[in-house]
Amino acid sequence: MDKKDLKHVSIPEALEELRNTMMMQSELKKQEEIGELISGFEKLEIVKDAIKVHPSDFLERYGLWIVSDNRKNFYYGIDLVNYFLGLLRSEPPETIAQVYSKIERVNVMVEKHPETGAKGLLIETEMEKFKCVQCGHCCINLSDAYETSVPDLDVSRWQDEKRYDILEWVDSFAGLNDVWINPKTQEPVDRCPWLRKLPGKDKYTCRIHETKPRHCRDFPKSKRHALDSGCRGFHAE
Ligand code: SF4
Ligand code: SF4
Repeated sequence: MDKKDLKHVSIPEALEELRNTMMMQSELKKQEEIGELISGFEKLEIVKDAIKVHPSDFLERYGLWIVSDNRKNFYYGIDLVNYFLGLLRSEPPETIAQVYSKIERVNVMVEKHPETGAKGLLIETEMEKFKCVQCGHCCINLSDAYETSVPDLDVSRWQDEKRYDILEWVDSFAGLNDVWINPKTQEPVDRCPWLRKLPGKDKYTCRIHETKPRHCRDFPKSKRHALDSGCRGFHAE
């Protein structure tokens, strides 16, 4: 059996990870998930609802009505996430560990960091169970894999490696390195140019695997990220 993949994070780092995970969710998902989690540790009157936030705003917003100090406020989107994390921040590490475990779908313990001695979380990431099955879903269906921008670090690496074949698909302007831009049409692609289907198989490879962008190398960031994005790397469980 593979050795468990463990990581230590401080409490502020854990809260930041939770913020990133929750910010990726739809408003409806935030409402459902945060409503249930808050009820587990705060005695607040919470009403799930969808409202029109302003007469001229025709969008239905999914959020929570929260009654606190006799005041009833409606929170949605980033405000709902910040409100939730603000409450969680003042909870003991044990509660933060429980919430982290529920959100990220992994086992978590409160433990001191072996080097700093600071109280934080020890997380079983389960990434040792991840196995890419080369289904191509991330490269084909997640447009932020190929219709995005890359950091200067990727660009300077390609410059060092003299990968002009890759650099011609990058449009660097005003501090951003947009990828992938077709060098012939100057238009963004609607499919990653480096994706290759293996002949006769339902499997894909990346033609620039050895030097692909950082965000491609880091995908998926966590078990929850994989589950939410439809990655099949954990489906063998
Ligand atoms: S660069 Fe490679 S890993 Fe990244 S989206 Fe394209 S084919 Fe996929
Ligand atoms: S979606 Fe997951 S399993 Fe499929 S190719 Fe991407 S990383 Fe691999």
